[in-house]
Amino acid sequence: MEPNLEKKPVIRFQKNFIVEENLASVVWPQECENCGGPVEVKDSIALKENYKSFGTIKVDVTGIPYCKDCFSRVKRGKGVNKLQTILTYVIGIPIGIGIIIMAMADQDTTVILLGVCLVLGVLIGYGISWLIVKLPSRLFGKRILEPVAAYLRQDKKRDGKEGISVLIEIPNKPYAVKFAAVNGVILP
Ligand SMILES: [Zn+2]
Repeated sequence: MEPNLEKKPVIRFQKNFIVEENLASVVWPQECENCGGPVEVKDSIALKENYKSFGTIKVDVTGIPYCKDCFSRVKRGKGVNKLQTILTYVIGIPIGIGIIIMAMADQDTTVILLGVCLVLGVLIGYGISWLIVKLPSRLFGKRILEPVAAYLRQDKKRDGKEGISVLIEIPNKPYAVKFAAVNGVILP
């Protein structure tokens, strides 16, 4: 009989955990991500993105452990983040258009520059929405928690090939250290 070759996740650390392969084998230390208490809720994050060269990628990050109390605060944190994302564009796009209108007054303005104006507007929108949404929520930090977040991203993997990796952001440092240990990730 073949030995049971369990697939190990391939993860590297670069500001956040970047799972290159075998996401399903990622191990979550069995304690609340925030307070270290008993695991009562397992959260999951559904990711979906369209890529030119890879098509539609759909991945679920599952098994993120929280206690009930922390999870209710994490849910508020997710709501705050969603609101901030919406506000970033609601505020940022009109500012971007405003900058474009100002730039158009200059005859030499190129199309590329117009794109830059829009990006600039969105960045300003991000800053303003951070000030009016994120900053106050930090002041109420006890009731609102930053959730574990996950994103898809196109990535050059260890073997040098381009592919899609899953970036996992663990806000609680001590838990991130434990997560690294159980998954065999060396932290810098
Ligand atoms: Zn907890």
